[in-house]
Amino acid sequence: MGLKKANFSEKEKDDIRTLMKFVGIYCRENHNGEKTPFSFKLFDVKEIEKEEIFVCADCSRLLTYGLTMRLKCPHDPKPMCKKCDNQCYHGEYKSKIREVMKFSGMHMIKRGRLDLLYHYFA
Ligand SMILES: [Zn+2]
Repeated sequence: MGLKKANFSEKEKDDIRTLMKFVGIYCRENHNGEKTPFSFKLFDVKEIEKEEIFVCADCSRLLTYGLTMRLKCPHDPKPMCKKCDNQCYHGEYKSKIREVMKFSGMHMIKRGRLDLLYHYFA
């Protein structure tokens, strides 16, 4: 699959954390379904994030997709997604991740977490 295992750069870990945080917040504030701790085949979530991220099945799918795409990004360093010439989010995932980034971005602004704000998507 071309995915590398385990040895992530700090930048990759940052992006992984950001993505998990954003989807986690979105799910917590918007979804009431059953939630389970997120797990991903390529790394131990707790090693990167220090705590488990609880998400519903839909968000888990979105997060898996987002992380897979991020780790498959052919560019190093990764450019801003909106400036990238190979858009890896398509269709349903693209509109969904935008909604997530917008919602969780606003959520963080309201809580003064500007440090976490998105360098990542637009
Ligand atoms: Zn959810």
